[in-house]
Amino acid sequence: MSAADDRPAPLPPLAALDVAHLDWPRDDTNSEAPHSSAFDDVYFSRHDGRAETEHVFINANRLPERFAAWQGPRPFVIGETGFGTGLNMLCAWAAFERHAPATARLHLVSTERFPMSRDDLERALAAWPDFHDKAGRLAAQWPAPLAGVHRLHLSARVTLDLHFGDSAERLGQLDGRVDAWFLDGFAPSKNPDMWQPALFTAMARASRPGATLATFTCAGVVKRGLTAAGFAWRKVPGHGRKREMLAGEIDAPPHHDPRPNTPWFTPPSAQPARHVAVIGAGLAGTTVAEALARRGVAVTLIEREAPGAGGSGNRQGALYVKLAAETNAQSRVYLSGLLYSRRWLTTLDPERTFWDDCGVLQLATNEREAKRQARFLANHTLPEDVVAGVDAEAASARAGVAIDSPGLDYAGAGWVRPDLLCARLAATPGITLHRGEVSEITPGARPATHEGGWTLTLKDDETIVADQVVVATAALANRFAQTAALPLQPIRGQVSAVRLPKGIDLPRLSRVICAGGYVPPATDGILSFGATFAPHDTDTALREADHAANLAELEASLPHFTAALRKAGVDLAPEQLDGRVAVRAASPDKTPYAGPVPDAARWREDYSALAKDSRRIPDTPGSHHPGLWISAAHGSRGLASAPLCAEVIASRICDEPLPVERTLADHLHPGRRLISELIKGQSKA
Ligand code: SAM
Repeated sequence: MSAADDRPAPLPPLAALDVAHLDWPRDDTNSEAPHSSAFDDVYFSRHDGRAETEHVFINANRLPERFAAWQGPRPFVIGETGFGTGLNMLCAWAAFERHAPATARLHLVSTERFPMSRDDLERALAAWPDFHDKAGRLAAQWPAPLAGVHRLHLSARVTLDLHFGDSAERLGQLDGRVDAWFLDGFAPSKNPDMWQPALFTAMARASRPGATLATFTCAGVVKRGLTAAGFAWRKVPGHGRKREMLAGEIDAPPHHDPRPNTPWFTPPSAQPARHVAVIGAGLAGTTVAEALARRGVAVTLIEREAPGAGGSGNRQGALYVKLAAETNAQSRVYLSGLLYSRRWLTTLDPERTFWDDCGVLQLATNEREAKRQARFLANHTLPEDVVAGVDAEAASARAGVAIDSPGLDYAGAGWVRPDLLCARLAATPGITLHRGEVSEITPGARPATHEGGWTLTLKDDETIVADQVVVATAALANRFAQTAALPLQPIRGQVSAVRLPKGIDLPRLSRVICAGGYVPPATDGILSFGATFAPHDTDTALREADHAANLAELEASLPHFTAALRKAGVDLAPEQLDGRVAVRAASPDKTPYAGPVPDAARWREDYSALAKDSRRIPDTPGSHHPGLWISAAHGSRGLASAPLCAEVIASRICDEPLPVERTLADHLHPGRRLISELIKGQSKA
């Protein structure tokens, strides 16, 4: 196959998937089991599904012995086609707990084209009472049926990435490598669409050398497909009445990460990461620090003030996104980030002490926005509980106050107290918080050796050495020599706040309301609203004019609410308001930077031919500063983007599958602007 044929298929529309259609026949012992009415096939054997899974997938992949011998530090990775009820993966999780050393980690990757409803999933898994706890954790985080990657943290040591969509297409987009495959899916005779050559090719490319596979079927199309893709297979005894099944392996998989059209985004190879320094303890830094500490990496988190002191220190921030009318990569990243943040926050703070998924209403208060939202809805059929269009009446009912405008309702979005979140994350075991300001980072863990690792020099001449470094200092993130080529724009934002009088009846919002600004439901008797948006302004002093602007915005989007507050005696005069100013940072294309830091000088040299002809793509993979990463440019949407970006970076550092498609990982790559400048011929060589 030529390199050009090797690129992943374009991402399919951002849309709701068809859900599984099931019936529940009973067997002779009167126990029910799910059966697909669409495929006329069973999800697992009605007689002894568990024993079959153990035989076909767990034992034929030799998982008990491989788990027992697993030394990490990266997780053992299982890939599956057809997640179904999750029975196979729960069995793998249980086997891992039984056999693997206490520090080992397990990463499960599974595709699913027709996800079950949560109710069906729970009903199916109720057949196995000893899986009650595991099934409960899975069901609690079960995502809406939306095409894309959904990362679930099932336990401290077990992560599940659900790749919703067709198996071949999803595995073609998988940025990660697998140690053992569960080749499941309905029988090839009942589901010929899945068992295509593209599936086996994608599996081969996403395999580690020596990856094993097991499948219940011996169909010719499977044997031929596996052989053509480079897998060796043999027939082994099947389970129960099935005489034979297939087991196999691939010793020399093809190069797993071809980016023939974008070689600059080829990820750097994994390096040791026992100790990582993270610079900046705002949302970007604390989320990366927590993601690494959760993986057993020692983290020094360096902050010149206190966690959340900068742009992430507001009392209440909106957890929301604004999706483009026409699907683009940025919208995919943000929507994926929003859904991930909610799941991650639910596991971090199930009691919702510092956040609330009360929902966000994005109002269309003018004709232009109403048209934009109508276009968005026409272009996207998303699950109702993700985004739904609402008229003014429904908006009023959901918001708990009278609203005159239609809007988009994000039922699972909400608000977070970023100050408390940052403090909580910084206190994660494994993270050492270090007060100080880094002035320089130099390659080499021993100054002047330049051999592996980094030395960080602080303002007071103190030094810290680390294997790897993550820069997460918002608008200051390009102040280091290595990051200077990454454009960042500072944006001043002022939030206003008013203390509500006690003991009187006040209108109360039950959703966060966004229009030009945002206003979340009041917490602890304080109503916050804002924020102003002033690019290139870095002044942090409160301004009365900005309070007036925030008030005008509040008045325009929620006139009845504002009038009711005034009527109840709340003093909304600008000079009476309190507030906070923060400087946030954005990239020119408004997508965050999350990934390895490119060696800009080398890129300009290696890819100089692009300036003359953008089709002349050199074969050279991108050079990066080894072990140097950045998470920045989250703008005012960091609550939706930073946790997912933290997972992207921690997954790369720890050599794990990514929580986003390859195309989206490339979209987040900090070097994207360098390349577009080279193509436009603007680069200052
Ligand atoms: N592994 C499952 C379990 O542990 O419950 C059972 C899998 S069930 C036999 C087959 C699954 O493959 C179904 O959930 C079905 O929706 C899914 N499927 C069918 N065609 C698919 C495709 N083209 N891509 C991804 N999943 C598919």
